[in-house]
Amino acid sequence: MVATVEQGGGRPQGADPRQGALEADFGQDVVGVQGASRGPASSPTLCKEAAKAIPVRDLVAALKLDAAPGRDNYRCPKHNGPYLHVFDDNAICFSVCGRLDNIELVRAALRVSFPEALRWLSSRFPNARSTRPGPDRARAKPIDFELHAAILTFLIKHLELTYVGRRLMEQRGLDPDRAASIGEFRSIGARDWPDIRTMLTDQFGWGALQRAGLQGLGWFGPGACWPAPVSVLVIPYLEVEKVVAIRLRRLTGEDDWPPYWAPKGCGTPAVPFGAPCVYGHCARRRVHITRGEINAWTLLERRELAIGAPGPRAVRPEWFEPLRECSGLVIWGEPGDVGQAFLETTQRALDKSLGAEWLATHRIDRPGLFIDQDANGLHCEGLLHLVLEDLRQ
Ligand SMILES: [Zn+2]
Repeated sequence: MVATVEQGGGRPQGADPRQGALEADFGQDVVGVQGASRGPASSPTLCKEAAKAIPVRDLVAALKLDAAPGRDNYRCPKHNGPYLHVFDDNAICFSVCGRLDNIELVRAALRVSFPEALRWLSSRFPNARSTRPGPDRARAKPIDFELHAAILTFLIKHLELTYVGRRLMEQRGLDPDRAASIGEFRSIGARDWPDIRTMLTDQFGWGALQRAGLQGLGWFGPGACWPAPVSVLVIPYLEVEKVVAIRLRRLTGEDDWPPYWAPKGCGTPAVPFGAPCVYGHCARRRVHITRGEINAWTLLERRELAIGAPGPRAVRPEWFEPLRECSGLVIWGEPGDVGQAFLETTQRALDKSLGAEWLATHRIDRPGLFIDQDANGLHCEGLLHLVLEDLRQ
């Protein structure tokens, strides 16, 4: 990676070390850093939009990012680990950092400030122009969530819980038939993607998939989410009679590939996982809130009421309004940063939706303080048993 910052011999003592790094990295291209008096005549600084419109593959080449295993994969300069995947028009770190625009990539790779990154890009790509005609360009269009749900509902209806998915359920001590019939879990084999792509484009057309925020589904285009086709469990987020979001859990592929992926329109679903089993059925009953859908499903199969969130920060306040009549809430967070983030996000969402008055009259049981193995023996098995043990440490 470019981060081999060689301090040129001439750096005067006491100078800002970052300035030294800049000189080493920028070499003769340096433009306007600490005055335009040195270096070649400076190109005008690009605007942000123009800088972000530079083809990301060209930028990655200019930054000489270290390659990582798999096509179009690089070591992520921001968290310095695998891996950053470079698409035609953006770069996404699938480990930690998420989407990185050109300016962020330069900032991370060269360890420079925002204006310094912009100047570096201006010097390397003086002819870059914004490709954005205006604020109403196609990409800025909001997702058509009705269409989104229609396409996902169609997809779930035409898939089955195949062998790979059934095996996962069995490994978790869950009943595959119930998972398929009630949970509407499905799975897709690595070799099935082309057929699914054909089925969806035949039925809806490419434009509709784009408007629905579903064009990025793994099987559309090379490297759209995982570097190669994988088998996945399809986890549905259901509302009455429709599927509002899906999340894909990878079942094959390399260990360092991201375990989960959701299409663009499925980030934080409008309802939590398990909503139809819980909403309308929770008066005077205890409700569990878990991170991860299979955790929630494990509880649901054991006749507890549970809703699941896709990630530690993907919890919406409006999820909790339908839980107003419940007798208590159990929020499950595993030890560590992710579990802590989940507890905090959930707590904030609860405060915002149900309010202080509700909270004052209801019990919120916190894992580790409340969970008692005898009283809750029915879900002290399989997956959740591990969580319980950890929480008691
Ligand atoms: Zn990263």
